[in-house]
Amino acid sequence: MQPMQSFQQIFGTVPTVEAEAPGRVNLIGEHTDYNGGFVLPMPIPRTCRVQLRLRNDDRVHVWSANQGGSVREYRLGQEEPLADWLDYVQGCTTVLRKLGHPLSGFEVHIASEVPLGSGLSSSAALDIALLRALRSAFGIPISDLDLARLGQRVENEFVGARVGIMDPLVASVGRPGHALFVDTRDLTCRQIPFPERGEIVVLDSGVRHRHSAGDYNTRRSECEEACRRLGISQLRDMTPKDLDRIEALPEPFRRRARHVVTENQRVLGAVAALEAGDLSALGRLFDDSHVSQRDDYQVSVPEIEVLVALAHVESGVWGCRLTGGGFGGSILVLTQAGQGEAIGRRIAEAYGRNTGRQIVPLVVGRSA
Ligand code: ADP
Ligand code: MG
Repeated sequence: MQPMQSFQQIFGTVPTVEAEAPGRVNLIGEHTDYNGGFVLPMPIPRTCRVQLRLRNDDRVHVWSANQGGSVREYRLGQEEPLADWLDYVQGCTTVLRKLGHPLSGFEVHIASEVPLGSGLSSSAALDIALLRALRSAFGIPISDLDLARLGQRVENEFVGARVGIMDPLVASVGRPGHALFVDTRDLTCRQIPFPERGEIVVLDSGVRHRHSAGDYNTRRSECEEACRRLGISQLRDMTPKDLDRIEALPEPFRRRARHVVTENQRVLGAVAALEAGDLSALGRLFDDSHVSQRDDYQVSVPEIEVLVALAHVESGVWGCRLTGGGFGGSILVLTQAGQGEAIGRRIAEAYGRNTGRQIVPLVVGRSA
C-alpha cells in the first residue's frame, strides 16, 4: 500500500458517506459454488473501506490507496471496460444504472486492508463496500442479498471474471467470527459461530499462477462437460451413491466430478463438526479436501505444497488446506485458539528459508 493520503488530501473536501466490507477465507467447499453446491466461507478481520461524496455533475473521480498514482476519472453512462481495477468501480455504477437507479457523479476514496489477489477476495470486498456506499448515498432500496447478486454481476458482466456468488455473498451478509454455510443453488444461508477453542491461520504463498484465470475457466468447462456426459444439469445433482457412474467417466472429467461430489459431502461434514465443536473432525475434513484439490481437481502448486507440509510438522494443528481458487493463493491452518499466531510465524519463517518469500500470517477466530 502507498503512504496513505486522506480523502481531504486527495479531493480537498470531506466525505459524506462511508462504508466497508470484509475479505473472506473459505473454510471448505472449493470449486463447488459454480456447480450448484455448498460453501462455507468466513469473513476475515480485514476490510475494504470506501469514502464518498456526491458531485453535481456526471463525473466519477476515484482514488485507491492500494493502487497509488493519480485520481482516475470517467463519466456516468460512458463506462468502458479497461481491463484494470477501475472496472470494479465502473461495473458498480453500470449495474445500478441498468437497474434504473438514477446516479449523479461522485468522488470516492478506497483503502483496503485485504491483500489484493491472494485468494482472500479483495475484489468482492471492494464491490460490496462501494455498492453499500452508493446504496446509502442515493437511498437505493435494496437488500443485502440483492447487493451480493449485484456484486456478482459487476464481476461477471463488467470485469469479465466468471466468479460465483460466494465472495460477494459473504462480504455482504457474513458476520465476524461466524462461518456462513451457503447452499449456492437457492442461496439459503446459515450463520454458524466458529468454536471458541479453535483458530484459523491464513498464510498467503505469495504465488499467483500466470494463467490462473484461464485455468479456472478450463475447470468450469470440464465440469460442464462432465454434466453433459452424465446427463445432469449440475454436479450438485450427484451424491456419493453416484460415484460408480463418475468412475466410468474418462479423465479429466472423472477426477473433476469426483472432487466436486466428495467436496460437497465434506462441507456438510464440516458444518456438523463446527456445530458439534469437533475440531479434530473438522481438521480431517480440511486435510481430505486438500488432497482432493491436489490430486483430483489439480489446482495446487509446489509453493502451496511446501506450506502444507510445514503446517503438518507443527503439533497443535488439526488440519490444513489450500483455500480459494488455487493455482497459488493461500492455505488455511486449523489450530487451537491462542496458538495460531506462533504456529503461523514458525511456518512463515520456514517458508521464507525454503522459498525466499516473506509472508505475514493472518489469524481469524471467534473474537476476530
Ligand atoms: P481477490 O479477489 O482474491 O483478491 P481478484 O483477482 O478477484 O483477487 O481481485 C483482485 C483485483 O481487484 C485487483 O487486481 C484490483 O483490480 C481489484 N481490487 C481489489 N481491491 C482493490 C482496491 N482496494 N483498490 C483498487 N482495486 C482493487
Ligand atoms: Mg476476487
